[in-house]
Amino acid sequence: MTERLPPGSTIGIFGGGQLGRMTAMAAARLGYKCHIYAPETDIPASQVSAATTRASYDDAAALEAFARAVDTVTLEFENIPVEAVRRVAAITPVHPGDGVLEICQDRIREKSFLNGIGIDTAPWVEVTDIASLQAAEVKIGRPGVLKSARLGYDGKGQAGLRDGDDAADVLASVGADSCVLEGFVDFTCEVSVMVARGQDGEIATWPVVENRHVNHILDVTVAPANVPPAVAARAEKIARHIAGEIGLVGVMGVEMFVTRDEDLLVNEMAPRPHNSGHWTIDACLTSQFEQLVRIVCGLPLGSTDRHSDAVMKNLIGDQADAWPEILAEPGAYLHLYGKAETRPGRKMGHVTRLKPRQDR
Ligand code: AMP
Repeated sequence: MTERLPPGSTIGIFGGGQLGRMTAMAAARLGYKCHIYAPETDIPASQVSAATTRASYDDAAALEAFARAVDTVTLEFENIPVEAVRRVAAITPVHPGDGVLEICQDRIREKSFLNGIGIDTAPWVEVTDIASLQAAEVKIGRPGVLKSARLGYDGKGQAGLRDGDDAADVLASVGADSCVLEGFVDFTCEVSVMVARGQDGEIATWPVVENRHVNHILDVTVAPANVPPAVAARAEKIARHIAGEIGLVGVMGVEMFVTRDEDLLVNEMAPRPHNSGHWTIDACLTSQFEQLVRIVCGLPLGSTDRHSDAVMKNLIGDQADAWPEILAEPGAYLHLYGKAETRPGRKMGHVTRLKPRQDR
């Protein structure tokens, strides 16, 4: 039985970045309060939340007090240590749970899981040292991409392995004991699907979108993706299959490569709101953030229909300084994250530009 938490209840959120901030804003619209748990000092989510616990993820007393102060817990960052999640879950429900996180925190587990449920990925081999890298190269060939199994994001903890590269140097540059060597995918585009799954197992997806990166950081999301309808349908089916098989309760971004043969290879999955789903705030009946709030509070899923097409542009570093011009643009929806310090490569905000739906 799903317990329905009434408005006025408090949602705990592990992590205090922009994803937590936008979740808290969606929660506030529905009359819920949020309590952020994060170790950092600059916590964008705290500015829009009722309470914050600033403590480390290994502070047992702080975790237990947080668990008692809230009615349900979710997260905006999949690398929360599972021990912290388990400690809190012993007191208050946490969605998504530790089992989902354990898979998504480690590329080896993630890819094994995906392949085990019949989902294609780039070919990959586990690497722990130079001998296993050399053995992996025999199977994968060059070019390849070496990635740390844990804690990589926005291209951090990964390096290309091309002709002429010294394998030992590449391994040292990634700097991890547990890695995967992946075959380099000659993709035509990168797409992602946001999928939501409720406590009762109901699943909804938003339309597949195209993601363009600059310096490994998401720059632009185009919604919907300009891919053939059959490819879009397959991408949504893959995301639904993963959400069901992994037992997701929450929202998840599933990133995929579209190959020249129009095959779909899953690159990674993130069991939380995802940058490629920000456009849903302004272009869909229910955003990824509101959906997460609905799910953790045991409410019915909202409609994921889009009323507009959209292009979401991340405002990275000093790109956010253009806010006065963006504000003056009709049809541009500006979101700034309230971060204290502008740094190169830091996501400071985004702008979503709406256009009438082309398929109507
Ligand atoms: P990741 O950290 O796995 O999300 O990778 C970051 C970005 O690197 C992806 O969005 C791709 O643009 C690129 N990339 C990652 N893996 C591969 C691959 N096997 N082949 C080609 N490009 C890749």
